Amino acid sequence: MMVIINNKENADRIGDYLNSLKVSYQTYNTTESIIFEINDTKNVLDNKIIESFEGVLYVTPLVEDSFLWSRKNKTEDTSITLDNNYTIDNKHVTIIAGPCSVEDVNQIEEITKGVIKAGAHILRGGAYKPRTSPYDFQGMGKDGIVLLHKVKECYNIPVISEIMNINQVEVFKKYVDIIQVGARNMQNYELLTALGKINKPILLKRGMGATIEELLCSAEYILKGGNKNVILCERGIKTFENSTRNTLDLSAIPVLKKLTHLPVFVDPSHGTGDWNYVESMALAAIAAGADGIMVEVHNNPMYAKSDGIQSLNLEHFNQLITKCKKVAKAIDKEIL
Ligand code: PEP
Ligand code: MN
Repeated sequence: MMVIINNKENADRIGDYLNSLKVSYQTYNTTESIIFEINDTKNVLDNKIIESFEGVLYVTPLVEDSFLWSRKNKTEDTSITLDNNYTIDNKHVTIIAGPCSVEDVNQIEEITKGVIKAGAHILRGGAYKPRTSPYDFQGMGKDGIVLLHKVKECYNIPVISEIMNINQVEVFKKYVDIIQVGARNMQNYELLTALGKINKPILLKRGMGATIEELLCSAEYILKGGNKNVILCERGIKTFENSTRNTLDLSAIPVLKKLTHLPVFVDPSHGTGDWNYVESMALAAIAAGADGIMVEVHNNPMYAKSDGIQSLNLEHFNQLITKCKKVAKAIDKEIL
């Protein structure tokens, strides 16, 4: 952490405070200020408290500190290899596609065959659904996870599904390749801590009211436990704009890519809430440097049990992949 103070008297006060907490530091004098280079290796300092001292001109924000997600800790980008040997990395664009919810055997089989044919690498399908209304379809639960797993075995495609609570960790460990933490659970720290203790890759979605810094802090809970396989996912935030379901924050992509070595994905389906806008936002996400996209696809969107309006049909998904390949190529990336 770097702190800049206006004069010697105020610098002495900060020095005394740091000494009382046994935090080591070096100081450098300039003509107008005193710079503290602080080595807070045990993380005992609170930026806000340091900022509140008299005469403090500047404190490095939290995001520049040495968290495990930070590029300051790890210069090489994180890549994640799944059981079928497919690798998620920054040279390729990974496509996750599938229905919002697993509904029945025919639905999931038809969608799986369609998205594989179009070129998807990973199949998504919710089984435990966090629905706004308790009267809406809540997902197939464990049956849905087992069904997704059967499809995975039969069609040889990795699968991802959303976990809702800590009691489901064992089931998810057994049946899915990537565990999704949804926007609503981004700050469920007990769940994040439990997921830090396992080896499965985790896709962590940004909370609809969360800042980029809060998203990274949530990722830190998983990384801190020893699970290094974390993917971040921008999925839109709440703003005053109501022509789209959320406001997809595409600027989060370059910001995150600058700060962290973790892969960054984008979900244009929940980000817009309307299938008409999904293609343009998916292409823009790839152009902006996303390492992957997650798209909701349904064989019969208007009859979907959840999020049909924002789901692409198989024909539109196929067209999307063709365009994604062109955009990826334009920025020297590849879609396998
Ligand atoms: C989902 O991807 O199924 C989902 C519920 O998304 P989010 O958590 O971003 O709302
Ligand atoms: Mn959905």
